[in-house]
Amino acid sequence: MTRLIRGGRVVTAADAFDADVLIDGESVVAVGSGLEADDVIDASGCLVLPGLIDNHTHLSMPFGGTWSCDDYDTGTAAAAAGGTTCIVDFCIQYVGGTLADALEEWHGRADGAAHIDYGFHVAITDARPEVVAEMERCVAEGVSSFKVFMAYKGALMVDDEQFLAVLEQTGRTGGLVMVHCENGDAVVRYQKEAMEAGNTDPRFHAWSRPPEVEGEATGRAIRLAEWTKRPLFVVHVTCEDAVVEIQAARDRGLPIYGETCLQYLFLTVDELARPGFEGAKFVCSPPLREKRHQEVLYKALRQGALQGISTDHCPFNYSGQKELGLGDFTKIPNGLPAIEHRLSLLYDGAVRTGKLSETELVALTSHGPARIFGLDRKGTIAPGYDADIVIFDPERTQTISAATHHMNVDYDPFEGWEVRGAPRTVLCRGTTVFDDGEVVSKPGYGRYVKRSLFAPPGRQPVPA
Ligand SMILES: [Zn+2]
Repeated sequence: MTRLIRGGRVVTAADAFDADVLIDGESVVAVGSGLEADDVIDASGCLVLPGLIDNHTHLSMPFGGTWSCDDYDTGTAAAAAGGTTCIVDFCIQYVGGTLADALEEWHGRADGAAHIDYGFHVAITDARPEVVAEMERCVAEGVSSFKVFMAYKGALMVDDEQFLAVLEQTGRTGGLVMVHCENGDAVVRYQKEAMEAGNTDPRFHAWSRPPEVEGEATGRAIRLAEWTKRPLFVVHVTCEDAVVEIQAARDRGLPIYGETCLQYLFLTVDELARPGFEGAKFVCSPPLREKRHQEVLYKALRQGALQGISTDHCPFNYSGQKELGLGDFTKIPNGLPAIEHRLSLLYDGAVRTGKLSETELVALTSHGPARIFGLDRKGTIAPGYDADIVIFDPERTQTISAATHHMNVDYDPFEGWEVRGAPRTVLCRGTTVFDDGEVVSKPGYGRYVKRSLFAPPGRQPVPA
């Protein structure tokens, strides 16, 4: 069947122009005028954007004895409602387990449940030699990126020896290493100091992980990548201290990349000091920062030091989950729900205010992540690409609320925010998955995507 999206303004990472988009089956086959099709979708007054990619999500993620409360059904339905048509989720190796076991488990969760397409990164938490050797098979199965944590000591954290082993192995197998940059030893020390002083409230979560802790780890990670001659992707950059390190590395000509996340552009550390225990709703790592860092992040996004805005979606209910940290902030599950409203918030809060252009918005939420994470058929609207498309009404207003959102979590960090601009219709591979407020896809429509290896643009692959 052919479908035509007629009368909209197509925005890609390069251009914005009035055009119709012709879809045949799952792919875009033409962009232009005078096209005809079996089914016509009127997009007049709307922007027609490539579906967003969220390369940083944690669905059904085990953490601190509990699980993030969106699974592959609810989490991807919420993503679709917000204009995201592909996620790359973190599959986490259990300490003592293998990467193959972890991948099998995550495939089992996603298979038959996802509403939109998905891929996996593998987080390596225990880089013993036989696990490092498994990375080659991961790459063959389309898992072309690996994550390590420099924080969460005693749980997810690797030491520098293990980090180096993972970097070196990608020199043989290919693959992009992603890294969570916080000095895990420093965090433990500050957590102890706070708790011993009786400072148990959520705001001490941020106090125990200041920007210096992120900046130090970012600089160290970059030096290890430089030494091993590997590209590196720094996840969830929050502050000037980290941006300075990435910018300096790029000035040295190194293939160092990074992203920030929605919440660091819109929320500040002040949220953690809300009355009672409400601040726990805003506990994530690295923590929210002072407002001054937001302008640094926007500048880094505009000038190319950072190439993406993802969500780090990792929701925990306030009731019964965040509350695990009552009286001890170190036990608050880390993470925020953010998968749903990224496009609306960025359009209203960044494009409308002139902080980002429409094309920069597409570059940072779709095209850039698609290229870096090897999603070869996604990230733009052009013949041959998947028909992953958002018809976005810039005038549609909405009030964000846990009462109406699609995420399976009992609060929304943006509760009560009024935003102008919302997806009207969302297509994933030519099929409508969200329309006029309703998720209309069935669980299981979304498909696993094998991702290709990243080659830094303009650079020859580094020989092993
Ligand atoms: Zn994360």
